[in-house]
Amino acid sequence: GPVDIECEMLVLGAGPGGYSAAFRSADLGMNTVLVERYSTLGGVCLNVGCIPSKALLHTAAIMDEAQHMSSHGITFAKPEVDLNKLRDYKDSVIKKLTGGLAGMAKARKVTTVRGVGQFLDAHHIEVTETTGTGSETIGVKKVVRFAKAIIAAGSRVVLLPFIPQDPRIVDSTGALELRQVPKKMLIIGGGIIGLEMGTVYSSLGARLDVVEMMDGLMQGADRDLVKVWQKYNEHRFDNIYVNTKTVAVEAREEGIYVTFEKANDKSTAPAEPQRYDMVLVAVGRAPNGLLIGADKAGVAVTDRGFINVDAQMRTNVPHIFAIGDIVGQPMLAHKAVHEAHVAAEAAFGEKSFFDVRQIPSVAYTDPEVAWAGMTEDQAKAEGLKVGKGVFPWAASGRAIANGRDEGFTKLIFDQETGRVIGGGIVGTGAGDLISEVCLAIEMGADAVDVGKTIHPHPTLGESVGMAAEVFKGHCTDLP
Ligand code: FAD
Repeated sequence: GPVDIECEMLVLGAGPGGYSAAFRSADLGMNTVLVERYSTLGGVCLNVGCIPSKALLHTAAIMDEAQHMSSHGITFAKPEVDLNKLRDYKDSVIKKLTGGLAGMAKARKVTTVRGVGQFLDAHHIEVTETTGTGSETIGVKKVVRFAKAIIAAGSRVVLLPFIPQDPRIVDSTGALELRQVPKKMLIIGGGIIGLEMGTVYSSLGARLDVVEMMDGLMQGADRDLVKVWQKYNEHRFDNIYVNTKTVAVEAREEGIYVTFEKANDKSTAPAEPQRYDMVLVAVGRAPNGLLIGADKAGVAVTDRGFINVDAQMRTNVPHIFAIGDIVGQPMLAHKAVHEAHVAAEAAFGEKSFFDVRQIPSVAYTDPEVAWAGMTEDQAKAEGLKVGKGVFPWAASGRAIANGRDEGFTKLIFDQETGRVIGGGIVGTGAGDLISEVCLAIEMGADAVDVGKTIHPHPTLGESVGMAAEVFKGHCTDLP
């Protein structure tokens, strides 16, 4: 059939994975086309994920800190919330960033094609034009012929099948729209996304319940870190139901009624349905692999919609690569970006590989919880010989001066070599502090390297050096 556009590199999806892949491809000199169904670049992360949630969390943290100042002898008036203005602020943040991306695409001469892409075969994709800000199609089709492709079509929210349509029941995207601040809010799913959005709504005045199937909130993080977060946040929650399944949700005029089921006898969930003013469903995300016609291109997709790739991000079709949420966990923007660079470089013919020792995770709650590399739980489960160094922030001058000394910094070491293989931090700014741990792990730094590095005083960053010193202190036989 007729071809409207020819290119060397086709990138499907303009999230952090897709735009990074397109930019790197263009920088390497490849004639690049970027296909995106939405009106803005940036994908989930910029439009309805990382960035808007952080704009709101920053606001929430300032409000909470202002209240906290009464213990320092400074009392502020109770905050007045203008939801419309707050929403405008959040939207302006998104606009600044997505606008910046559009400019960068233009400067690099990346051709962006607006529409829903569906592969026709291993060298052609059909793009059905979309309109407005969403992904409503208007029937105009274009065919792009490509030499190579990178699939970066991302993921979408998972909804529970028994949940009715009701404006009071939202997913993370709906929660970011800030339509109302409910009196009583239920969060289904105690993962990072649910707890971040819960933090925002609670700071704005909502009372929270959270329900989680597993035996604790914020799965993936060591329990000692989560415990500190949970203790500091007790005041936000009326009930935390763990080991509990949500089995029914009914929308009535006077509220949303939710029925729980104990997964085991450790659950404290009530037998009667509970009433809420708003329910946030945050039970995970599903990859978009089954929605892009991948089979037509011969690209293998798993039953769940993931695309398997090798260490160069190559699918089973040698000239087609895949990156980001669509290739698997952890579904995080920084992983997508790193994979994007590998894929673009490998497609160009460079010997790039996705070969990392750690991918950090951060819950941008208050306090923040951050971890990287091997967790202590993981190390124990694998029966490794590891040691740890823990520095409590109760001994940090800066944390005490800040009035926030509830946190701690923990480093995990290979007991034989003394090398840093993991770390976790809970406390204000933990997400920024974890970067030093990431670098230490990647560089194979040991306890002496980290402990003997002079950190500026008084900073929270010192706690990383101190954690290494603590570990060294109880090891006499380090190399
Ligand atoms: P996506 O961002 O999902 O982008 C895929 C793009 O492809 C989308 O724009 C989509 O419209 C487009 N697309 C899909 N199919 C087609 C098609 N057929 N045709 C045309 N276009 C198509 N991660 C972090 O690292 N830090 C955080 O703080 C963080 N916070 C988050 C908060 C929330 C509320 C959510 C929901 C997610 C958060 N994430 C965070 C996760 C992060 O957003 C994702 O990991 C990241 O966006 C994945 O990037 P991606 O490029 O793989 O895909």
